[in-house]
Amino acid sequence: MNVKPKILIVDDRLKNIIVLEEMLADLDIEMVRANSGQEAVEKANKTEFALVLMDVRMPGMDGFETVEKMRKNPLNELIPIIYITAFYNEDYYRVKGIKTGAVDFITKPIIPDILIGKVTVFMKIYRQRKNLEEEIIWREEIEKDLKKAKELAEDATRAKQKFLSTMSHEIRTPLNAIINTVNLLREEEPRSDQLDSLEILKFSADNLLQIVNDILDYSKIDAGRIEFEKVEFEMRKLLTGVKQSFDYEVNRRHLVLDLRIDEGIPMVLLGDSTRLTQILINLVGNAVKFTEKGSIIIEAKPVKKYNGQIDIGFSIIDTGIGIPEDKIEVIFESFTQASSSTTRKYGGTGLGLAITKKLVELQGGELKVKSVVCKGSTFSFSLPFLVSDKKFVEDDPHQKSAFHSLKGLKVLVVEDNLVNQKIVSKYLTKWEAKFDIAENGRVAVEMVEKNRYDVVLMDLHMPEMSGYEATLKIRAMNDDYYQELPIIALTASVFLEDREKIFQFGMSGFITKPFNPKELFWTISPFLKKRD
Ligand code: ADP
Repeated sequence: MNVKPKILIVDDRLKNIIVLEEMLADLDIEMVRANSGQEAVEKANKTEFALVLMDVRMPGMDGFETVEKMRKNPLNELIPIIYITAFYNEDYYRVKGIKTGAVDFITKPIIPDILIGKVTVFMKIYRQRKNLEEEIIWREEIEKDLKKAKELAEDATRAKQKFLSTMSHEIRTPLNAIINTVNLLREEEPRSDQLDSLEILKFSADNLLQIVNDILDYSKIDAGRIEFEKVEFEMRKLLTGVKQSFDYEVNRRHLVLDLRIDEGIPMVLLGDSTRLTQILINLVGNAVKFTEKGSIIIEAKPVKKYNGQIDIGFSIIDTGIGIPEDKIEVIFESFTQASSSTTRKYGGTGLGLAITKKLVELQGGELKVKSVVCKGSTFSFSLPFLVSDKKFVEDDPHQKSAFHSLKGLKVLVVEDNLVNQKIVSKYLTKWEAKFDIAENGRVAVEMVEKNRYDVVLMDLHMPEMSGYEATLKIRAMNDDYYQELPIIALTASVFLEDREKIFQFGMSGFITKPFNPKELFWTISPFLKKRD
């Protein structure tokens, strides 16, 4: 504390005040004089004093009366008062003094050391009190700052999520159009030189979509908003599917991709097959990308079995470029690659391993890597699954290979985007389904009232009336048909809240954009059977 404590010396005789001032001259304090009770009260009302040295006998208002008046001001209620008196130890004065709240008496003649000792103690107490007060104010300010910082951080996170969801929509919608148009063009028997250009276009668009998805996935994991499903799946089929998706690339580059599945792995398991596929695609994708000659082996074997559960260990072993020892830790960080030339030579964002590691860890596993430069790398992890006693998974639409006709199915496509309208129309025509198009929610509601449909494909964000509002209106209509009509949302959002909202508004499911023709087909085809 920098400000000197002030003490008020009250005496009608200047000589006495000067004597006291001289005695206390060595103390680090500021002394203020008052020649009468009245002056003392006035000064004490204006200034905060650490201590008052009060003469008892004064003409007019005596010391006791002065203190009583001073105490009336709440600010002065607790100022320590030392009475300076010549009335020795008379009890009458002592009692009166104490009643007015005196803390001490000093009798005249004053012994300097006693005065200095007493004043020093009060100054110490005063300083301590001031320090405490300052600390309280300081802490209150820190608390305020912390609260503000927390609010700012929460605002920033909300803004980030909002930005990402908007960005997801804005980027994925045109990308959707590009990918689907390329898919359609590829099916229209292009010339071989056109096919080459289309392949490049498709590769780049798929790649861009992968990057956007990676960034969104990473931010979702980062915000702790990821949930894992438990679905029945066949591990052998899943691993074969992962292998097949790299066969073309592996053959083209004369590499060997080998799948080694241990006999002890049960046929049907329960777990998050989508996330497992994502993890494996990432690791096998890296192994293929970073291997110029030799082989890649995908290995799966049981590690531990207990109470209907099984831990399966996976290893992806390559004979590629390897990772230097000092880079092993950093490759798992987001946006980090082992060498600055990696992007130029092999592409990628450095997000794959960061996501993969989190996906493994969030399911209770650990992702490990062993690597020797120029010899190869092995990435391994193990994950728990529940064991099912089934031998195969029935009704798995994704396993069916060919599309059949959707003749007889009547679909209402509610979509404001012309490109998307065209794409869905082309597929529906190809599958021989009948369909109408509504350009917004309001038109959709009218058409649903006039016609009978087997399924509605409902875009969410449209002018005039959104898909949410249109669904609410349809569900509120008076007939079982309106409650049972399957309404499938078309959404570009990958956020869980948006998906939950879809069901809250009474929709029956969703398809994510860009459309995957297979997903579209397998989502709407069951409604054909229902009508038969
Ligand atoms: P990306 O592949 O997009 O660059 P990842 O996070 O998947 O990002 O990988 C980060 C880095 O780790 C890669 O850039 C590469 O340097 C290194 N890496 C990953 N897998 C392998 C592998 N099998 N062989 C050699 N290096 C690898």
